[in-house]
Amino acid sequence: MDLIDRIADLRKRLDAARGEGRTVGFVPTMGAFHEGHRSLMRAARGRHETVVVSLFVNPLQFGPEEDLDRYPRDLSGDLAVAAAEGVDILFAPPVAEMYPGWPAPPATTVSVAGLTDGLCGSARPGHFDGVATVVTKLLAIVGPSTAYFGRKDAQQLAVVRRMAGDLCLPVDVVGCPLVREADGLALSSRNRNLSPAEREAATVIHRGLRAGADLVVAGGERDAGRLRRVVANVLTTEELVRLEYAEVVAADTLTAVDVLDGEVLVAVAARVGGVRLIDNMTVHVGAEGAVVDLGVGVAPDREGLCAAR
Ligand code: AMP
Repeated sequence: MDLIDRIADLRKRLDAARGEGRTVGFVPTMGAFHEGHRSLMRAARGRHETVVVSLFVNPLQFGPEEDLDRYPRDLSGDLAVAAAEGVDILFAPPVAEMYPGWPAPPATTVSVAGLTDGLCGSARPGHFDGVATVVTKLLAIVGPSTAYFGRKDAQQLAVVRRMAGDLCLPVDVVGCPLVREADGLALSSRNRNLSPAEREAATVIHRGLRAGADLVVAGGERDAGRLRRVVANVLTTEELVRLEYAEVVAADTLTAVDVLDGEVLVAVAARVGGVRLIDNMTVHVGAEGAVVDLGVGVAPDREGLCAAR
């Protein structure tokens, strides 16, 4: 595996690969790899001759009071993981390579209206502009045929899809299942910053979603407000966990719904100590009843892990 930190070097390498008829699959990340990242690497590895993973803790998507300085970093561990997953190129540019002139922000940014208003967009103003801008730049640098994103960050996936569509970017955006620890906690690089007590308390997030899933599937609940309250109530039972939001929204527009119908996203964000965690599940309600997608456990079978949209 090659470690590349310059845009020009990466372009040269990928132009050559594409010239030989190889398709490029791309996984953008902020590093501190875990099984969620690995699942995306495997999905890309299964479909492309050349797999590129980027590792860039994007300062543009962090607010001034956020955890940029505390964000976990582990380049040597990440190199080993990416190599073990058969990644061809790890692209890890310094900040000045992506944003010459930083800390002055770039003059050109990408902003996706509407989808970024609610959920994490309310609590993190400017966050999704930072995400959309860096993903646009990375796609322009890498030129992949397909880019892989986790459904753990459901709003981010919706924003990237919309942006790629609106800007006619020649890339297929694929969403992959949310991966959880054995006790249900959604894998996140930020979990490394939880104390043992906080790590234990954080499992309440999954328990809240499960309670919501039971209510819908076994209880036949179709009222979005009652579902929201049940999920929120479970999350407020843990002293160490402060609920930021629990919302029930249409999966495509991310706007609030009153009644569960079609594909609905139940999204939550909570602070556990100084760590902000997000999680979600998707509820499909049709004539046949309701099916809930809570993601997959660690070490799932490698086939079929990543569904095309
Ligand atoms: P990050 O490094 O946290 O920016 O995440 C990089 C990519 O990995 C994003 O597309 C995330 O949605 C995805 N990802 C992070 N955690 C998980 C998880 N638990 N399950 C699936 N995908 C994930």
